[in-house]
Amino acid sequence: MNATLDTATLKKLDQDHHFHPFTDFNDYAQNGGRIISRAEHIYIYDSDGHKIQDGMSGLWCCNLGYSMDAIKNAVAAQLQELPFYNNFFRCSNQPAVELASKLAEVTPEGFNHAFFTNSGSEANDTQLKLVHRYFDLLGKPNKKLVISRKNAYHGSTIAASSLGGMSAMHDQTMGLNYIHHINQPHWFERGGDLDEASFGIQAARELEAKIDELGEENVAAFIAEPVQGAGGVIIPPESYWPEIKRILDERDILFISDEVICGFGRTGRWFGCETYGVEPDLITFAKAVTNGFMPLGGSMINDKMADVLLSGGGEFAHGLTYSGHPASCAAGLATLDIYQNTGIIEKTAEDLAPHFAMRVKELEAHAIVGQVRVLGMFAAAELVKDKGSRERLAPESAGAVYCRDRAIEDGLMVRQTGDAMIMAPPFVTTPAEIDTLFEKLSVALDKTASHYSAS
Ligand code: PMP
Repeated sequence: MNATLDTATLKKLDQDHHFHPFTDFNDYAQNGGRIISRAEHIYIYDSDGHKIQDGMSGLWCCNLGYSMDAIKNAVAAQLQELPFYNNFFRCSNQPAVELASKLAEVTPEGFNHAFFTNSGSEANDTQLKLVHRYFDLLGKPNKKLVISRKNAYHGSTIAASSLGGMSAMHDQTMGLNYIHHINQPHWFERGGDLDEASFGIQAARELEAKIDELGEENVAAFIAEPVQGAGGVIIPPESYWPEIKRILDERDILFISDEVICGFGRTGRWFGCETYGVEPDLITFAKAVTNGFMPLGGSMINDKMADVLLSGGGEFAHGLTYSGHPASCAAGLATLDIYQNTGIIEKTAEDLAPHFAMRVKELEAHAIVGQVRVLGMFAAAELVKDKGSRERLAPESAGAVYCRDRAIEDGLMVRQTGDAMIMAPPFVTTPAEIDTLFEKLSVALDKTASHYSAS
């Protein structure tokens, strides 16, 4: 749609009529926001004429940037041919069929079935139902409890908010009572005097203790992001996942790998579970499966579970009008074609990610950076007042908010989570553009440091 309204009118209408996600409605109604009018390559443009480099791949989804015509054209062609039909009542459509089989090809071995949703949140709701159905069919109806982690993000429907471990979301949601949370493997926040490796083992063993407390006969699944994204790009110590794997291997508990951010190359491999060598039973995907161009999410189900779900018989009482929407699936197919045919995931891991990591690590020398974390194409820098004690720059994450706002003013979109600055640039960012990202971020860090030393 070409802009037909001027900026002032758009902003006013937005403030008057549009409630935004994860936003203080009152503050927005008073102060408004920014209208994004177009995007190209890795740049977004707002209606005031600002050009902003996107250091976040949209919302961790536009791994290929904004100019992938093949995806746009595939959607346009699909809308001409078959704009919609549902997948209920023994109907299917070619893009959904092809995408399900393509996903079986690109996901780890042993994953041969897909269930489609429109989002990551709905996909995680679906995972819960699949897990419960699986154990019911096996004659183990008591296995209903699910273990997740504090500060995890699994989406914002009621079930996904309950699965997640964000306290602000729990405060506003009457959550599901069969979900239990253990601590996150966030060494910088919680490690104290322990070295990273010992802390990783200790954090993993909380899973073992929680299973023992709840009773293995009652626990159905453990859900985790290989790297917590929205929680602050929390890259666990290297000891963490092997210990989790040991604990899961010894028990009759399913593992759901939430790959909504990690999937499709962000960690350097196609899926985060492959980076860490863990073998899930269910994979949650969304976001980069369509490069963010169309809403699509879903569950990949491994053969162990699929065999039971297939042979058990009876209807799976779950589905969404747009499950397997032809235009979304056409976007997914075109996106996966690019990932496969250009080898961009592998090339990014080999060429761009080491350059990105080098620039991230340089930030550690900055006076207000207490720790950096980087894996593949995402990273975090924790802001502190004092590196030794890890004392935060300012209460309530104000330091990171200040830094983020300075970066955006200077034409760089990065994000703040807690006291950390977060980056997840598109894979099509050039090395020179990665350098620009860090130049702008360093300027924002300098401004933040002088603001807080002066105050
Ligand atoms: N899981 C994870 C790991 C996510 O990061 C997100 C979204 N950021 C979701 C689930 C929810 O996805 P959606 O916003 O598409 O519902």
